[in-house]
Order: sequence, then C-alpha cells, then structure tokens
Amino acid sequence: MNETFLDVRRLNKHFGGLQAIKDVDFCLAEGEKSAIIGPNGAGKSTFFNLLTGYHRIDAGKVVFDGTDITNRASHAIARMGVSRAFQISNIFPKLSVFHNVRSAVQSQMGKSFSLFERANRIGNEETNEIMQLCGLCKKEEVLAGELSQGDKKKLELALALANRPKLLLLDEPTAGMSLEETRETMSLVDRLNQEHNISILFTEHDMGVVFDHAQKITLLHYGQIVLAGTPEEVRSDRSAQRIYFGEHA
Ligand code: ADP
Ligand code: MG
Repeated sequence: MNETFLDVRRLNKHFGGLQAIKDVDFCLAEGEKSAIIGPNGAGKSTFFNLLTGYHRIDAGKVVFDGTDITNRASHAIARMGVSRAFQISNIFPKLSVFHNVRSAVQSQMGKSFSLFERANRIGNEETNEIMQLCGLCKKEEVLAGELSQGDKKKLELALALANRPKLLLLDEPTAGMSLEETRETMSLVDRLNQEHNISILFTEHDMGVVFDHAQKITLLHYGQIVLAGTPEEVRSDRSAQRIYFGEHA
C-alpha cells in the first residue's frame, strides 16, 4: 500500500492577516478513510480548497500519487483523480438529475467521444450506474433545483463520482441531514471506499459519525494540526477533549 498517496508538506495559507493554514503536514495512505475535525473556522474547508486548486497555496507542497500538484489548476487536479463534494456546488438547477450526472460523465470522457454511438451508450450506462449507487434512479427526471436537501447532496456526490476519483474529499457530507440520511450517506461512503477502492478524506461535525467511520482522525485548530491518530487515540487525548469535545458537549 502506498502510505503517501496524498503527501502534504508544510502547507501555508493566509487571507490578509489571518493565517488560515499554518505549516500543515499531512499524509493519507492509499485506500484509507480519514477524517479532519476541528471547530468552525479551524481551516478544514480551506485545507480542501488548497488540495483541489480552488485557492492558491502560499507555501508548502502537495504531492498526489507521486505527482506534485501544488497550485495546479482545479480541473487538472480533478483529472488526476482528486474529486471533492459539498460546500462548493457544481449542480445545474435547471437540468434534470440524469442530465446533471450525464454531463459530468461526459466531461470526464472527453467531448470528441460523444460523436460515437458506442461512447454515448457507455456514457449513459455509467450515468445510470452512478445514479444507482447514489440512490437517485427514481429521481432521474426531476430538475436538480427541485430536489430535497438530502437528494441534492446525493447528486453532489454523484457528480464527484462521475470524475472517477481515486481520492474523494467530502466536506461535511452529512450536514443538514436527518439521522436516516446520515446513515445512508455514510454507508455509501464506506462502500465507495471498500468496494470501489476510493480513498476518502472527510470533514464532519458529528463525532459519532467520525468515530464510526474514520480509520484516522486529524484535529485542526486555528489552522494547525494539534493531533492525529486512531479514533481511540483521539478519543482519549486530553487536548482534543478540551479543544473540541468540550465546546460541543
Ligand atoms: P472550517 O471549514 O474549518 O470551518 P474555513 O476553512 O472555512 O474553516 O475557514 C478558516 C478561516 O479562514 C476562517 O477564519 C475563515 O473566516 C477564513 N476564510 C476562509 N475562506 C476565506 C476567504 N475566501 N477569504 C477570507 N477568509 C477566509
Ligand atoms: Mg468548512
């Protein structure tokens, strides 16, 4: 197993006078399912934005699967197999669920292939497969803008999957979901990890979800990593309890 599938070294980002990410070192092994936790404003979304090319990195280095992707364009990073979902929406509200997923599949396949009937069929099959996986088949005709909050999140996940990711970054995948939707979504995340061999990095406020689903947990506080370890290690750490669990008790 590649222990440094994602290898982040001394990452830094500031917004004006605010140091949002400070000297962050982080590794994710191939096939791992890892969580980043931390209070609001800790820098979790910024970290994801830096990894995926949505924000410019001030200093430091990001290597994915052996390639330096520091400050590459977001579409180039996506093409290498790093997808993100949530908190930045790619949904077209006036298109149906099917056409949202189909156009994401198409952009992965490349435009020229759409000229061929066979490629068209493959694209439709892949679209249906992704909708099935995400529990969206019954909604395929619905306009994306009219979906419930829970289904919208399923669609965002489907769009990320259309990119055929090797690494999936999920920023608060269950935010705003009911208990049942949370359970469904996280079991899908587990399946993507185990059956489809997609490495996962996710942020999440619900500590129950984090401890049930993450193999490794990293605690971010004011843009710095204060602790990283297994769920057991993090659960028993006093500084983690003070910083995070104390505030949410
Ligand atoms: P989290 O996702 O952990 O809640 P964020 O990464 O969203 O935290 O934010 C980290 C800090 O950076 C916060 O203080 C936030 O206000 C600030 N921040 C995030 N994005 C921007 C931006 N585009 N411009 C200025 N400040 C930002
Ligand atoms: Mg955030």
